[in-house]
Amino acid sequence: MSFVKVKGTYDVLPNESKRWQALEKFVRDLFNTFKYEEIRTPMMEYSNVFHRENEQSDMVTKETYNFKDKGDRDLTLRPEGTAGVIRSYVENKLYANNRLTKLYYIGPNFRYERPQKGRYRQFMQFGVEAVGSSDPFVDAEVIFLAYETIRRLGLKGVKVKLNSIGDDLSKSNYKKVLVDYLTPFKDQLSADSIERLNKNPLRILDSKAPEDKEIVENAPLPINYLSDAAKEHFNKVKEALDALNVPYIIDGKIVRGLDYYSHTVFEIEAAIPGFGAQNTLGGGGRYESLVEELGGPRLGAIGFAFGMERLLYALEMENIQLVNEERLDAYFIYFDEPSKSMSFKLLNELRQDDFKVDMSYLPKSFKSQLKEALDLKAKYLVIIGENELKDQMVQLKNTDTQIQELIPMNQLKEKLGVL
Ligand code: AMP
Repeated sequence: MSFVKVKGTYDVLPNESKRWQALEKFVRDLFNTFKYEEIRTPMMEYSNVFHRENEQSDMVTKETYNFKDKGDRDLTLRPEGTAGVIRSYVENKLYANNRLTKLYYIGPNFRYERPQKGRYRQFMQFGVEAVGSSDPFVDAEVIFLAYETIRRLGLKGVKVKLNSIGDDLSKSNYKKVLVDYLTPFKDQLSADSIERLNKNPLRILDSKAPEDKEIVENAPLPINYLSDAAKEHFNKVKEALDALNVPYIIDGKIVRGLDYYSHTVFEIEAAIPGFGAQNTLGGGGRYESLVEELGGPRLGAIGFAFGMERLLYALEMENIQLVNEERLDAYFIYFDEPSKSMSFKLLNELRQDDFKVDMSYLPKSFKSQLKEALDLKAKYLVIIGENELKDQMVQLKNTDTQIQELIPMNQLKEKLGVL
């Protein structure tokens, strides 16, 4: 019997976790600047939060982890952040203060997808939701924040792709045009798409089935069927982004993977070597009916999410360091039980004063302890032997200059503090 990780998952080992922490800190600081506040919602929700009448996307219908708990309740591991956040927004009446509620989250999502590079079954996302307004300036703020995220990280070669799929009127007009276009091809479409033709034709646009590809390629696009109101909204978003010099490309093919979107949708794409089609770092869009669908008032919202694995990989590919080299202040080296006890006492006293210090608990020779100290990039060695212990002294050696001095134990803190 062997014990292995679940297919499509991964471990973050200590040598990688610092990069994760650094990215999380970066995100928190940046989102704070824009006055977004963190919300932490459960990783599981009652299934109806995701499985709604109007949500027929593959992500929700085919890729969710669904199970019953011992109380026979239907639960789903969240496949994305937004629905749970909006469930919480409504349940906790965050709309009561009559303000735009600006939330961010960082956490894992679960999708039963085919695992490959950049695609996992448990993956981390951070994202924002600005809930309670349909103002196009909010769209621009959210897109600007997504853009700032990658700009401040220093990622080059990143594209912001923008599209509008319009309001309800535009969507129902477009739906007719799309069905008229697709119907003559009915026999050539994939089985899934034939089913979607009646239920949810828009989903056919992001079909990955090879037999659909060419048909979809030449399909009419939502952006050409926008109502006047939707056009006006989109123009205002573009104007606001132009004023901020956000470089974007209009891409009429972006429809996003969920059904709740309307108006503005966008994706942030990077050319990541080896990632193939998995090169979308993040994406988002406006959703005008989800708050109401989840039992709240009719309030508009917009959000985005970035995938952290892909983002970290892109940073690595572009040689962008998130973490500065970490050094230990000092490493203790001892020779016998009495000097080990003294090292243990002294180093934990230093820790109380926030010095970063360590020692080996394994029975190691002087040479092995020294090697460990150098691996950990200790600035100082504190060496305690029989003689030093007898005289209540320690040897303090600077590993950069190689200068070594014999100092009284009770001066160690002072010496390390000023050296
Ligand atoms: P989505 O929620 O599908 O719009 O995805 C937003 C971002 O999350 C994507 O651009 C990816 O960076 C990331 N993402 C989505 N699905 C996965 C997955 N299965 N594995 C890793 N990252 C993912």
